[in-house]
Amino acid sequence: MLLTISTSRPGATDLGYLLHKHPDRLQTFELSFGRCHVFYPESTETKCTMAMLLDIDSVAMARNKGNKKQNFALAGYVNDRPFVASSFMSTAISKVLGSAMSGQCKSHPDLAKEAIPLEVAIDVLPVRGGEDFLRKMFEPLGYTVSTKRLPLDEQFPNWGESHYFSVRLETTATVASVLSHLYVLIPVFDNQKHYFVSKDELDKLLDKGKGWLDSHPEMETIVRRYLKFMPSVARQAIAQLSEATETDDDSEAKVDAEVAFEKKIRLHDARLDTVTEELVKTGATRVIDLGCGEGKLLKRLIKNWQFKEIVGVDVSVRTLEIASKRLRLDELPSFQSERVKLMHGSLLYRDSRFSEFDAAALVEVIEHLDPPRLSAMERVVFRHALPKVVIVTTPNADYNAMWPDLPAGKFRHADHRFEWTRDEFKVWVDSICQRFGYAAEIAPVGPLDEKLGAPTQMATFTKVGKPIASTGAAQ
Ligand code: SAH
Repeated sequence: MLLTISTSRPGATDLGYLLHKHPDRLQTFELSFGRCHVFYPESTETKCTMAMLLDIDSVAMARNKGNKKQNFALAGYVNDRPFVASSFMSTAISKVLGSAMSGQCKSHPDLAKEAIPLEVAIDVLPVRGGEDFLRKMFEPLGYTVSTKRLPLDEQFPNWGESHYFSVRLETTATVASVLSHLYVLIPVFDNQKHYFVSKDELDKLLDKGKGWLDSHPEMETIVRRYLKFMPSVARQAIAQLSEATETDDDSEAKVDAEVAFEKKIRLHDARLDTVTEELVKTGATRVIDLGCGEGKLLKRLIKNWQFKEIVGVDVSVRTLEIASKRLRLDELPSFQSERVKLMHGSLLYRDSRFSEFDAAALVEVIEHLDPPRLSAMERVVFRHALPKVVIVTTPNADYNAMWPDLPAGKFRHADHRFEWTRDEFKVWVDSICQRFGYAAEIAPVGPLDEKLGAPTQMATFTKVGKPIASTGAAQ
């Protein structure tokens, strides 16, 4: 089984330093399942390729006690393991290129941190789930993927295609990150492991997946397949990865009283999920989250590759700092961090940076504005920023009767300046449509009460034409 990694960065032979393997030498490593040869078929200043050839000892493998479950008598000897990239390759990567994978390079520490052009070729990869699945795994990590599906037997084309692919991946990234991606993902395609999956697999997965796995849109599938034989450990891993960004700084990011108040029904999650789904439906690719707070909506948007440009704006610098930490913007690989930007700004002042977005979201923001200032926000958003779609959510005051702890006339959060009933919200939505040339639909979010509606109300505005009446100049 052959894996190659090439770079065409000027001074390409530096790849040898990054991989800790000299380009002029053939090196052979003894592993429990066979041998791994490392050599460089090409090594010039303009292109350098490292090849890793696994020579799996299928006889030893067949005798291995761990391989008892076979479909037929000779299955231990006649199988694809020696020829395909599988968990054997991951083991070889960690044993032979372990220092490179952890980003260590004493002689060239800066180079180890540099994103360089890299091309990976995996000779034969068994893929359960086909080309779509392959792309879903690698494209969110910034790879350009090209594949060739291999025939079942070249001599008998009418037998059809196999589930084996020849794969080429191109990216600009650090060598360490590419090795970590390969280490985790190669066995995921195949869904088999050659060794007993022990509990320390969880630590390995979290370690190698650091900085990318928690934000991968297919995180759960990856974890489930990687830890296939240990569903309870997989659940633990998914929970840990999902919470990684939520709990990393509890002392600073105090649980918001409003969220705590509504916690019983996990309303805020439902709200953010609904807004995300609504944004997906619009087909928007450039989205601005106005009053983004600690970045909870942004986090959801980052996971979806429909969104090419994602901007969060907030008036509070402190909140933006927390958002930056929670989203780990400093640690994201460049292809991810380039999609996301946080901006300090106010919704009450016209700002050219808010323009030219397909969609804007204002999730639980308007009720934080003093009513006399609401009209400034309206002009800033609906006249000047002028996104094709605007999604606004706000509490439904009718529903407050459902919370016995909330005295009548009180708001759900001390910082709320108003909370509208469904009728009041509809009047406001209609007036926006009239004045600024939008059409709107209002929908309930959260558990629906027959009489009182849902705890949150959401309006989706779509730009349809010119405003009907002018309402004076913006600030
Ligand atoms: N949309 C986020 C945060 C909601 S809390 C979420 O759903 O999690 C309201 C947010 O609006 C706060 O972060 C607050 O700082 C921000 N905000 C209040 N007034 C603002 C203004 N004039 N301009 C921009 N953001 C504002």
